[in-house]
Amino acid sequence: MTMLKVANCPNCGKVFQKNLRNLCQDCIDQVHGDFDRCEAYLRGNRKASTEELSKGTGVSAKRIAEFIVSNRLPVAYYPGLTYPCNSCGLPIRQHHLCSSCRIRIVNDIQKMNQQEAKRKERGIGFQIRDRLSR
Ligand SMILES: [Zn+2]
Ligand SMILES: [Zn+2]
Repeated sequence: MTMLKVANCPNCGKVFQKNLRNLCQDCIDQVHGDFDRCEAYLRGNRKASTEELSKGTGVSAKRIAEFIVSNRLPVAYYPGLTYPCNSCGLPIRQHHLCSSCRIRIVNDIQKMNQQEAKRKERGIGFQIRDRLSR
């Protein structure tokens, strides 16, 4: 007997047979429909913003963001499209964070590394003194 791998669709909650897209067939069809509507709208309004596109198609901004991030709607071709920074919500067009959030996070990491380096330096200092006193 083979066990069917089933899961709850993360989008609509319906139980479905697991597939590569990790969505039930209804939602896959819906996403296809959403994408087609977005593309059709952008064909006439290439420079539309995400907000205009969402209003013009009824597709949620979140879904549009997914299309942008997965590069199905390339920002290089659609200059008005943006999606919110993961951290502060500012409209961005690449990566998952805006530049100021990226800088902040890089600084945080650097600070952590510096602290770590200082700790290690101190540790090495002790070792050298130990060796000299022997
Ligand atoms: Zn679904
Ligand atoms: Zn940000």
